[in-house]
Amino acid sequence: MTSAVDTREPYESYRPRLGRGGESVADRTAAYLAMADRRKELNAFLELFREDAAASALAADAALADGTAGPLAGMAVAVKDLIAIKGKRASCGSHILERFESVYDATVIAKLRKAGALFIGRTNMDEFAMGSSNENSAFGPVRHPLDPERVPGGSSGGSAVAVAAGMATVALGSDTGGSVRQPAGLCGIAGLKPTYGRLSRYGLTAFASSFDQIGIFANSCTDIATVLSVTAGHDPLDTTSADMPVPDYRAAMTGSVKGLRIGLPKEYFSDALGAGVRTVVERSIARLKEAGAVFSEVSLPNTEYTIPVYYILATAEASSNLARFDGARFGYRSPEANALNDMYVRSRSEGFGAEVKRRIMLGTYVLSSGYYDAYYGKAQRVRRLIRDDFLRVFGQVDCLLTPIAPGTAFRLGEKTEDPMQMYLSDIYTVSANLAGIPGLSVPGGTDAAGLPVGVQLLGRHFDEATLLRAGGVLERFS
Ligand code: GLN
Repeated sequence: MTSAVDTREPYESYRPRLGRGGESVADRTAAYLAMADRRKELNAFLELFREDAAASALAADAALADGTAGPLAGMAVAVKDLIAIKGKRASCGSHILERFESVYDATVIAKLRKAGALFIGRTNMDEFAMGSSNENSAFGPVRHPLDPERVPGGSSGGSAVAVAAGMATVALGSDTGGSVRQPAGLCGIAGLKPTYGRLSRYGLTAFASSFDQIGIFANSCTDIATVLSVTAGHDPLDTTSADMPVPDYRAAMTGSVKGLRIGLPKEYFSDALGAGVRTVVERSIARLKEAGAVFSEVSLPNTEYTIPVYYILATAEASSNLARFDGARFGYRSPEANALNDMYVRSRSEGFGAEVKRRIMLGTYVLSSGYYDAYYGKAQRVRRLIRDDFLRVFGQVDCLLTPIAPGTAFRLGEKTEDPMQMYLSDIYTVSANLAGIPGLSVPGGTDAAGLPVGVQLLGRHFDEATLLRAGGVLERFS
């Protein structure tokens, strides 16, 4: 019966059929695994948890039969390779942690498990989440499901592809500068970066701690709302998680945007925006207008500083976070080493890839005593200005609508020689991480070549509900 399963169907629509003899979680789980096998060339998974997933599926079917099923019973979740699952590897797409196994569950994993979800496998990613194309993985690139010669975006490319190609119902990623929203946009699915502090980061391997958030990929905004309701909330194990009530995000999906005030930041619609993307974004604006939303132009004057500020601060934090991988405590140790210093140098030189080394060097430089004030200190101050820009416009409008990325999925190798070009892929997404606000990528449609274009909604701190509500209206048209 597995061939009858539509593996792109959102949880919200298949859940009512579970547990009534109509459809079993076991069949559906087998269908996801079969799809992952059939499309192995996409390289979305680093490991499939075949046996665990099958066993959890049977347990979910039993729970559904006896009426004890949790809110996410049988939901198949793919997990980015930097979130801890007890007893599983979490290599962060890196040789240095290739054999590292987690000894505990991340808080989000524990919450999903308790709600009845099951885990399909761990997904490929740019090494330590540094990248925009998934070409920085130590385990080979991930490929775009519609055209394997193209990239799926990054750094959570494996998670995006797992959902877009029907290998899981939803997926977890991490978003430090756009790594959930940009691949969601390039792959034509929904992706949320929650407010900084909305989800616990306990068990998420740090890249840049003041930017990182765990995000959610799904085939519908309602599915994101469902997962967010379960995973959000304060966690005593993460002091940066916010002690704020968790609303019922599904109840917020009213299907109406009547009177919603949406701002269009003029700096995001400059000439840098490709024509194909612009057309789709404008169509999305027209549709929301027809549905009753009210648009106005707003200005975020410090937008031009977002990329430089992000690459100063994120690399500084990364150089500090990644200092712990020294060959002594975690992961890879060079077999050649014959003295302590030599062990550090060799283990890190052999264990890390080129992009990670570039970031560590840049970050160490901006933190060095002679340059700290000129670069790091100044970037911190500009970060505040960027945040203040958002706070000001959110006095005038309820949310913002922007493109996700300047273009659609590009060809493998197209930007690898020029890091600056690659970094510009994040030009519309990094601001949300600098300001700590939530951002949602919603499929807007396709360009003339048939490649997906994502539309980004940005909201006030802790107002994911408005984004999901508007996204739910928008996705009906794509
Ligand atoms: N592409 C950005 C970078 O390379 C963002 C990565 C992310 O969000 N993890 O840093």
